[in-house]
Amino acid sequence: MSNKKITKLLKKNGLRLDNRKFDELRSIKMEIGVLEKANGSAYIEWGKNKIIAAIYGPREVHPRRLSLTDKALVRCRYHMTPFSTDERKRPAPSRREVELSKVIATAVEPIIFTEFYPRTVIDIFIEVLESDGGTRCAALTVTSLALADAGIPLKDLVAACAAGKIDGKIVLDMNGIEDQLGEADLPIAITPRNKEITLLQMDGTFTKEEFKKALNLAIEGCEKIYDIQKEALRKEYIIVKEETEKIEEE
Ligand code: ADP
Repeated sequence: MSNKKITKLLKKNGLRLDNRKFDELRSIKMEIGVLEKANGSAYIEWGKNKIIAAIYGPREVHPRRLSLTDKALVRCRYHMTPFSTDERKRPAPSRREVELSKVIATAVEPIIFTEFYPRTVIDIFIEVLESDGGTRCAALTVTSLALADAGIPLKDLVAACAAGKIDGKIVLDMNGIEDQLGEADLPIAITPRNKEITLLQMDGTFTKEEFKKALNLAIEGCEKIYDIQKEALRKEYIIVKEETEKIEEE
């Protein structure tokens, strides 16, 4: 898709090109337990992003020299499929994928009781099937659901969302074109219960006031994401409960 003709990201009526208000999230769908073989998995559709997360572990670390004596190692591979972008993405890991793998591992680690599993590894595999801006936030959000699905003891979930600046206005959850043509992007991740920020990155420029406004808006976005995550977990466990009751009846 060519974006050459797009010069304005806000319409005359103040709405965004996809008709969202400044503080509106894209539509979001989450599903837990989508893979048979991984220990835990989840899938998210966040706007036009489609992302799957799979967890293996806690399991033995290979190579063994990486193992930690006092806690589990949390390792992540964030990968974009060659068909996840407008033009075929080269399959070899890019610097961006290496960076995102590292920041995602660091941002989810605080919720895991890693001290319960010394000398083991928890492997997180993220496959971006389609991307349209904000994949790191969507990836973090779906990863915490996959960790829960793997039965790994968690202190909380990680909920992530970005705010940014388009045509001089602070907005929530930028899509691909807004990310590309906008002035600034502030993706954050929080642990909603104790409000710890586990990821904060920034691209572009904000004034001090704009930064505060964007941060507060992104936190509000994370809280909305947290509600959707909890609902997805509740829905999954109602299904598990019903299935268990059926087996017991038989
Ligand atoms: P995020 O996905 O977290 O917003 P970026 O800001 O780095 O991360 O990327 C913004 C968007 O740019 C991505 O969601 C994706 O749609 C697109 N993008 C990223 N890398 C590539 C690439 N190698 N080729 C084409 N598009 C890309």
